[in-house]
Amino acid sequence: MSSIDLRSDTVTLPTQAMRTAISNAALGDDGFGEDPTVNRLETLMAERLGMEAGLLVASGTMANLSCVLTHCARGDEVIIGNLSHIFLSEAGGISALGGVFPHTIPNLPDGTMPIDQIESAIRADNIHFPRTRLICMENTHNRCGGALLTPEYTAAVVALAKRHGIAVHLDGARLFNAAVALAVDIRELTRGMDSVSVCLSKGLAAPLGSVVCGDAAFIARARRARKMLGGAMRQAGIIAAAGIVALEEMVARLAEDHANAGRLAAEISKIRGLSIEPERVRTNIVFFDLVEPRITEEELVARLKEKGVLLHHAGPCRFRMVTHYGITAANIETAIEALRAVMGS
Ligand SMILES: *Cc1c(COP(=O)(O)O)cnc(C)c1O
Repeated sequence: MSSIDLRSDTVTLPTQAMRTAISNAALGDDGFGEDPTVNRLETLMAERLGMEAGLLVASGTMANLSCVLTHCARGDEVIIGNLSHIFLSEAGGISALGGVFPHTIPNLPDGTMPIDQIESAIRADNIHFPRTRLICMENTHNRCGGALLTPEYTAAVVALAKRHGIAVHLDGARLFNAAVALAVDIRELTRGMDSVSVCLSKGLAAPLGSVVCGDAAFIARARRARKMLGGAMRQAGIIAAAGIVALEEMVARLAEDHANAGRLAAEISKIRGLSIEPERVRTNIVFFDLVEPRITEEELVARLKEKGVLLHHAGPCRFRMVTHYGITAANIETAIEALRAVMGS
């Protein structure tokens, strides 16, 4: 029995169209700017996002790090959510490798940082203080359960940043999920951003790769940061080829993942011993808690695994299920049945 793997949308395998595109890709040395497939993906992504230029990188972590290193010098400060992926899950790279100082603001459950708190975090010009250089946002917000930042909210943060002469970076690992769930043109969500990173390897199902977008001057500088991080590749068209298929064929179907996640959340809310706010589940990420536990956390994971359902143990009594390409509506019913059985309800 093959398992229903809801640990993450990173477990997605490339589609047949991607495998075909990879084997047929026109290739060249990207170090000379001569890989036509890389160039096409970078242009295509920039156009989609309404930005000037794009840069293919190996991962979302490398995308965010390349951007922060391009915006900030050593000793500069970045304002960032305390639950953001950059702060929690990227090995402290901005500090370890960039000497960049994180100033965290608490993320609210809706993924936002309160605007007044961002504003009070911005430093005055004073030799005692680091210089505030950058504000980072995340859309959808992973740790906040795939929460959606609206164009109104991001525009307000951008306006604040502009007033203070600070750059804005958007970690858009799942930005296409946000655009689909909000039913807005993705350019509404990138407007005014100085840099944006998007993952091809999450719900879009490409085997690897992320793209950074910004204006042409920014991307030229980010290209040097990528090189410094060891991320300059040669015939990277084999990655880009799958990325182009991801962009062209895999975006619209994200709605299916959101519907599956919504169904999962609604049913979890009826299971005794599990706690969730189903109305918060708007995209493909479902967090829930084990309450008044009749079984231990380890038992929950192990007994679901016996039933062929994998989930992520995200923290004390906290679990995550992520829907994605390859997970069908029938799989979701099976997962719900398994949860009910394991919880004895
Ligand atoms: C997955 C993820 C990343 C990093 O991507 P990797 O390819 O795993 O390095 C960055 N930001 C968010 C919000 C993510 O979910």
